[in-house]
Amino acid sequence: MWIVPEREVAALVTRKAAFDAVEQVFAAMAAGEARNFPVVREALGHEEALYGFKGGFDGVGGALGLKAGGYWPHNMARRRVINHQSTVFLFDPDTGRVRAMVGGNLLTALRTAAASAVSIAHLARGDARVLGMVGAGHQSVFQLRAALEQRDFDRVIGWNLHPGNLKRLEVVAREKGVPFEAVALEGMRAADVIITITSSFDAILTRDHVSPGTHIAAMGTDTKGKQELSADLVGAASVFTDEVAQSVSIGEAQHAVALGELEAGNIVELGAVINGTHPGRGAAEEITLFDGTGVGLQDLAVAGAVVARAIEAGVATEVDI
Ligand code: NAD
Repeated sequence: MWIVPEREVAALVTRKAAFDAVEQVFAAMAAGEARNFPVVREALGHEEALYGFKGGFDGVGGALGLKAGGYWPHNMARRRVINHQSTVFLFDPDTGRVRAMVGGNLLTALRTAAASAVSIAHLARGDARVLGMVGAGHQSVFQLRAALEQRDFDRVIGWNLHPGNLKRLEVVAREKGVPFEAVALEGMRAADVIITITSSFDAILTRDHVSPGTHIAAMGTDTKGKQELSADLVGAASVFTDEVAQSVSIGEAQHAVALGELEAGNIVELGAVINGTHPGRGAAEEITLFDGTGVGLQDLAVAGAVVARAIEAGVATEVDI
């Protein structure tokens, strides 16, 4: 088994490699060549931690495995380690033997940012110029960097519950030479693309905050009960997702479907747009929404690419098991 430690991952994966891996796996899912297994997510009743597994099998990419991990809310304060912790395990699909163990923390941020970037690439208007960010936590900077590469954005606007944290988004936007402005939620009407990446359990963005023609990548809702968008906003949008089963159970669509604002059968897998079996955006004034719930196959795809690079670079350790 090959071991790739967390500290090596940053040097082994580029945003482009993560984008390509995620785009390919979404396409394989929509073509029925790859599938995710049902997600397990449990409150441990210990350290207030949420722990679980996301796994799957990509018959074309040859990826079989799982990501194990979750969220320990007191890690940073009590132990100076980050709150999100995960590890990816890859198996040989021909034999079932474990093939690799890879640190999954940075990979999670990169594959999540790659997913919204893929959605922007395929669904946002070509003339999108203003990027709106809702949320300024750990994931947000990864989201911003990947999104800025998808269109010729000339302005970034941001909103966060605690406005002081927007500074980290401003720093990234400046690095890329794009001006940044903090706005009220109403200010999001100026955005052509909006990324939501918060851990909110109540709607933040409503229909009044979003202009016709906007593409929204809703990335924060990955658990039952979380919510970032009002159900009527979701109902007014053309809804795309990584996986429909997750979208209606743990994704942003869970609320709109439960309230009858959206038919589950009208949600389209983004992979179908990538494959060309669905046209994607139909009109310039349409609101498109990508409900990014985070699937195990994304983790396996980027981890597989990292293991290959790590072996090449001589930074993977082989152990007998
Ligand atoms: P974080 O704890 O670093 O940041 C949380 C963010 O949410 C902050 O901006 C905070 O101000 C905001 N927030 C919290 N409560 C809020 C509320 N009630 N109203 C408005 N804003 C609120 O978390 P993070 O690591 O940046 O992750 C953000 C979210 O993304 C989490 O919900 C996480 O589970 C989710 N996530 C999703 C995927 C995916 O694949 N879809 C992957 C990783 C993380």
